[in-house]
Amino acid sequence: MSDVYGQGNWYAASASQAPEFPPLAGDVSVDVCVVGAGFTGLGAAMALAGRANVVVLEAGRVGCAATGRNGGQLHTGQRRDQAWLEKVVGRDDALALWRLAEDARAHFRTLTDTIDCDWRPGMIHARHKPGGEAEDAAHIALMAERYGYDQLALIDEADLAAELGTNVYHGGMIDRGGGHVHPLKLALGMARGLTIHENTRAERWGREDGKIVVETVQGRVICDQLILSGDGSLNAMAGPARARVMPINNFIAVTAPLGGLADEIIRSGAAVSDSRFVVNYFRKTPDGRLLFGGGENYRPGFPSDIAGMVRKNLAKVYPQLADIPITHAWGGTLGITMSRMPFVGEIASNVRVASGYSGQGVMLAPYVGKLLAQAALGDTAGVDLLSRAPTPSFPGGRLLRWPLTVAGLTWYALRDRL
Ligand SMILES: Cc1cc2nc3c(=O)[nH]c(=O)nc-3n(C[C@H](O)[C@H](O)[C@H](O)COP(=O)(O)OP(=O)(O)OC[C@H]3O[C@@H](n4cnc5c(N)ncnc54)[C@H](O)[C@@H]3O)c2cc1C
Repeated sequence: MSDVYGQGNWYAASASQAPEFPPLAGDVSVDVCVVGAGFTGLGAAMALAGRANVVVLEAGRVGCAATGRNGGQLHTGQRRDQAWLEKVVGRDDALALWRLAEDARAHFRTLTDTIDCDWRPGMIHARHKPGGEAEDAAHIALMAERYGYDQLALIDEADLAAELGTNVYHGGMIDRGGGHVHPLKLALGMARGLTIHENTRAERWGREDGKIVVETVQGRVICDQLILSGDGSLNAMAGPARARVMPINNFIAVTAPLGGLADEIIRSGAAVSDSRFVVNYFRKTPDGRLLFGGGENYRPGFPSDIAGMVRKNLAKVYPQLADIPITHAWGGTLGITMSRMPFVGEIASNVRVASGYSGQGVMLAPYVGKLLAQAALGDTAGVDLLSRAPTPSFPGGRLLRWPLTVAGLTWYALRDRL
């Protein structure tokens, strides 16, 4: 598949050829225009199909940004845990946000039941430092007692070492409700049957005669409702949302098939992510490779040697694989917010945005897309709930936030090494 998916992207190499959707040609009138054919936009368009006239504008190809480049890991719940949410948004909204996340999980599992996307259950959270078992135990108890979630269990250090095939971790937790997928196969499956215009960038929107008009080089979309997505790639169309979402880059490498070694690594086939600030996350592919995500940068552009950068982190977790050939390596851009809760809301009458999933959009974004669609049809409850979660602007405004925030992020990344 084309380089728009990122050179060296194993997902693009292992998905069947993506069907092409023609660019917009001239002006069209619809009920709803969706910008972006990632998980959010596709989720929105699927929910609107058959209920409204909808068109999706995609600057590149379906799933070419974060959606077709991510770790494919399904984390349950919101990006912040329930104890944090209870403190910040109160008990009632915390419970509602948990239920929303469980609805997102059910929605996601319906998608994986109907689209061939290599779904595999099991998500392990591994502690990279000694200590923390009591906090994990308290989290498991809170989730069982207050939220009725019984899919979590502690794993002690010895069992985790046997499961993962490495002794660098100090125990952890398994979430049987989590899992992993091939995200690009999922996105391409979601796109089937939708009206999408690829290679069509939405440049700006305005209003004419009571309608919203979205302008592209190829033509205009005249609509009543506008849905904007773009996790790490919002443009000026998203107005105030851009001050609250910052793009950062994250990197993944995939090894050659591991052969017999594959049986000694992650025996259960679960996905793994660790407790570092710059998280290492990894899993096996169905053909016995190790897919390993690790390493970030906080400036526009990717480093020239992504494989070398990820290999350093991979070798610390799996010294026995230090010299394994890396066949694929790529980068992707995601959006983070100050609070790590997504920015979801109405930025102008009938114009709604979702962005800044902070590394947890695989499960949430398709469902948030559905909630944006429901809001466009008049039911705003889900969007209203998410928009009450705080997502303050980054300090320093759009110009100064980079140096300030990067200094902060770099400090936390440094602490991982201490
Ligand atoms: C390396 C990496 C690893 C990750 N790992 C995980 C993980 O394991 N688990 C997890 O839950 N999350 C993970 N994430 C985050 C997750 O991928 C995203 O949260 C999710 O895919 C967001 O989907 P989206 O549709 O909102 O945005 P995107 O996938 O970014 O899609 C937005 C689309 O909009 C298009 N677009 C943007 N501007 C315009 C415009 N003006 N006109 C037309 N089209 C436009 C873009 O081309 C893009 O296709 C990861 C992200 C990265 C980059």
